[in-house]
Amino acid sequence: MRTHVVTGSGSGIGAALRRRLESAGDRVIGVDLRDAEVEADLGSDEGRGAAVAAVLAASAHRLDGVVACAGLGPHVADAAAIVSVNYFGAVAVLEGLRPALAATRGAAVAVSSNSATIPNSDNAIVAACLAGDETLARRLAGDPAGQPVYGGSKLALARWVRRTAITPAWVGAGVRLNAIAPGAVHTPLLQGGLDHPVLGDAIRSFPIPTGGFGTAEQIAAAITFLIGPDASFCCGSVVFVDGGTDALLRPERF
Ligand code: NAD
Repeated sequence: MRTHVVTGSGSGIGAALRRRLESAGDRVIGVDLRDAEVEADLGSDEGRGAAVAAVLAASAHRLDGVVACAGLGPHVADAAAIVSVNYFGAVAVLEGLRPALAATRGAAVAVSSNSATIPNSDNAIVAACLAGDETLARRLAGDPAGQPVYGGSKLALARWVRRTAITPAWVGAGVRLNAIAPGAVHTPLLQGGLDHPVLGDAIRSFPIPTGGFGTAEQIAAAITFLIGPDASFCCGSVVFVDGGTDALLRPERF
């Protein structure tokens, strides 16, 4: 039986992934604020440390897959929490569990977003995240006149994946690391954005060539591929599963 960790397992994409993996006979150790095997707040250092320790104990330091899916949407009022959960929480879990993945030559996936390629996502928050400076990233995120926080956190995560995947500690130890970049997918997170007085219209106006929002199950299927043996040649990939939005908006850039 294969054992996987899914953060954000209690809702949306993480919950769909849990269902998919468990129905295939795999074991899932869920990490979430509540209703999970490991209940922890990935927005804090203490919560991240506790989550990693609890997962290592529950898995006897052997994991086949780790999916960093927990995240906060752009509608969340506490903008600093967005960078703490979406970037620093994800990176801490992936780094903390890497040795357990190395024990099985397993694979990891970080859930980024196609919001990462919106032009103003490439902002100062990205550099602060990649420098590991959570204090600065949180301060920049809290600036009311500042830059988009959600896209910045997701661009930083995708860049971290690309920089990290090809290092000796990861692929050199037989551990594949990739990212997935979903587009608008019907989950409670998206609904929070749609209900927001400003963001709602922006999200609705986003072009989706396939028509309509995606489903959590479609994203779970792509993640299952990336952590599985069929993706053994994928390393540092950022896989867009977004109904064609990124291709439509940036046809010449990839
Ligand atoms: P969701 O809100 O349905 O699920 C997110 C889960 O993360 C929840 O169970 C929540 O409790 C958990 N979480 C939030 N903060 C946490 C914390 N501090 N510690 C531990 N767990 C925490 O959202 P979703 O749409 O399924 O999103 C999953 C991932 O996909 C997120 O990283 C999100 O940014 C990304 N994403 C979503 C969409 C979309 O349109 N839904 C698009 C692109 C990327």
